Amino acid sequence: MKYIGAHVSAAGGVENVPKRANEIGAKAFALFTKNQRRWEGPPLTKENIDGFKTRCEEFGFSMDQVMPHDSYLINLGHAEQKQLEKSRKAFLDEIQRCEQLGIKLLNFHPGNHLNKMSVEECLLRNAESLNWALDKSEGVTAVIENTAGQGTSVGYKFEYLARIIEGVDDKSRIGVCIDTCHAFAAGYDLSTEDGFKAMCKEFEETVGFEYLKGIHLNDSQKELGSRVDRHDNIGEGHIGLKGFELLMNDERFDDIPMILETPNTERWPEEIELLYNLVD
Ligand SMILES: [Zn+2]
Ligand SMILES: [Zn+2]
Repeated sequence: MKYIGAHVSAAGGVENVPKRANEIGAKAFALFTKNQRRWEGPPLTKENIDGFKTRCEEFGFSMDQVMPHDSYLINLGHAEQKQLEKSRKAFLDEIQRCEQLGIKLLNFHPGNHLNKMSVEECLLRNAESLNWALDKSEGVTAVIENTAGQGTSVGYKFEYLARIIEGVDDKSRIGVCIDTCHAFAAGYDLSTEDGFKAMCKEFEETVGFEYLKGIHLNDSQKELGSRVDRHDNIGEGHIGLKGFELLMNDERFDDIPMILETPNTERWPEEIELLYNLVD
């Protein structure tokens, strides 16, 4: 079964998210557990935690379908020690927030090498950071997202994600999220049947579907291989409906959160419906 949802606002507290997700017809959701543009956030209160858990139950969201995104400031592959430590601490805090909320997945971007280190070193540093944070926590799986390859961001090829996984000691707590817009911008042509098959084959051979924990559903404003990260509404970008139809009818993408991050949030209810209608 497909679990389609969106990245819903946590304004007013995380306890408001499940109801908002339910209102748009979502069966899965993403959220920020703190302000994504700040290093620190106030600790979660008992009210936040209890409210979140109760409403997830009330609206029928299993914790397998909840995949928060970490702060945009965090770079687990940072070249400079001081910045790296700041990122690691912030990432651990994000994991601990998930632990408190009973959430099992935490989605993050593998960061930028900033031309201060090689791609290889940056990937290795990501793995070291993950080992550091996973060692100090439990129950939460860190989910690496593929990037569009914009600027100096690493992780736009599946083999790079595999390299990070290789370096992580506890393989039971590492996973991957494929963002369709990022994949397309990175050169994976999921808009056609042949391209989609080739992408899945490469993913299976490098990472492996057993590591797939989530999907970000975004069309792409930019062309194939542009390495530019610009999300578009489903069916309106260069991927087009065919690509999403292929995805919706492939069992390898069953039972994981599939999250919209498309630009027009008001259209999420119709986009969710549109995607469900693509399932044969
Ligand atoms: Zn994404
Ligand atoms: Zn993006």
